[in-house]
Amino acid sequence: MKIKTDVVIVGTGVAGMFSALKLPRDKKIVLITKEDMRSSDSFLAQGGICVLRDENDYDSYFEDTMKAGHYENRKESVDIMIRGSRDIINDLVGYGVDFKRDGDDFAYTREGAHSRPRILYHEDITGKEISEKLLGQVLKLENVTILEYTSMEDILVKDGKCVGVKAVSAEANRTRLEAMAAGKKVKIQEEIQPGGKIQVEICGEATILASGGIGGRYEHSTNYPHLTGDALDIAKKHGVRLEHLDYVQIHPTTLYSKKPGRRFLISESVRGEGAVLYNSKKERFVNELLPRDVVTEAIREEMKKEGTDHVWLSMENIDKDTILQHFPNIYQRCLEEGYDVTKECIPVVPAQHYFMGGIWVDSDSRTSMEKLYAVGETSCNGVHGANRLASNSLLESLVFAKRAAKAIVQEQKHAAGAA
Ligand SMILES: Cc1cc2nc3c(=O)[nH]c(=O)nc-3n(C[C@H](O)[C@H](O)[C@H](O)COP(=O)(O)OP(=O)(O)OC[C@H]3O[C@@H](n4cnc5c(N)ncnc54)[C@H](O)[C@@H]3O)c2cc1C
Repeated sequence: MKIKTDVVIVGTGVAGMFSALKLPRDKKIVLITKEDMRSSDSFLAQGGICVLRDENDYDSYFEDTMKAGHYENRKESVDIMIRGSRDIINDLVGYGVDFKRDGDDFAYTREGAHSRPRILYHEDITGKEISEKLLGQVLKLENVTILEYTSMEDILVKDGKCVGVKAVSAEANRTRLEAMAAGKKVKIQEEIQPGGKIQVEICGEATILASGGIGGRYEHSTNYPHLTGDALDIAKKHGVRLEHLDYVQIHPTTLYSKKPGRRFLISESVRGEGAVLYNSKKERFVNELLPRDVVTEAIREEMKKEGTDHVWLSMENIDKDTILQHFPNIYQRCLEEGYDVTKECIPVVPAQHYFMGGIWVDSDSRTSMEKLYAVGETSCNGVHGANRLASNSLLESLVFAKRAAKAIVQEQKHAAGAA
């Protein structure tokens, strides 16, 4: 089956949804996602999203990002992200995102390796708040169709240019796909069940890969298991440039469990608010606010030294009200696992969390293949260098998704002018 559209977007996380929202309404867009539209890491983000608080914070924010990234970051990308942050927050607030306020101003929290509080948050479910509001906006769009349980298996390439994607879709999408193939308008979304396999080619003038991270390839990860870096394999197969494939971030503190499946994250902002790490003798062994890779290394060394499977995290320095108001989700989840964080330590262990490398893109999210763009965690625009600074990834995804949409429009205008 063959479907024609203007832009194909692979992934319904913040990067994919924001790209769709920032494209003009006269462009027909097909958004596909491997599972249901809410199963993305964007919905899981806890801690928050960074913003440049004021001009005085520029140098310090830039330095914090570079230092965390071991100075391997692309400076131009870092500058673009920081400079673009206010606009992105204004966009989000315009879409109804509710960040915690302190009077008329936002309330700012802090995480590891930030030299001052510059993170906006909504309890400890910032990703859900942002993603739900973006999804609500996307679902209003007349020019968008979302296909759930539709997995990209390859890209379509003609004369060295990307002309769409090859995907496998659930049988329950058949009626809609047939209508789309016949050029008919269909409802933006329909709730369906997975199962069955329909081969489909979705052809577009531009394709955006927004398919997230690689945690599904690991035994212990905070990511959804279906996020297996498919776009990277496909890019590699077609000789599309990749960068820093070995730059994988391990989060120092996930709730220790012997059960299989996704690891529950204990956000860095818990340490930002004063939580401390202990070994089995209840001794502190590291400055908890150092960059993630440094804290992870210290935890691993301590575990090795003591022959243990985890270390302990204590929230004894955070008052109960703050825990209940700022971290209700973490509080509840730990309670379900048998730990009351207001009264006792919880066992924590490092796990795979984020992928700094990915499909190389320029500062407008163009890959090395014409008409193929990549945004969000699957891309590498160099913002994060060798190690991501906490709460920079939602922001980076949004800033560069917006730029991809702008670049697509400019290129199509240019092509129309040249024709
Ligand atoms: C537990 C957790 C907490 C986090 N906390 C924060 C935080 O506080 N602040 C912060 O800035 N960042 C945080 N992050 C990181 C951040 O959430 C992600 O980096 C960001 O959301 C990535 O967005 P994305 O749109 O690129 O990918 P995702 O949101 O992961 O979306 C990927 C999409 O691609 C789809 N997809 C994948 N493969 C295919 C395929 N083959 N075909 C079709 N569709 C496909 C998926 O179904 C999904 O819809 C956190 C991450 C986790 C896991």
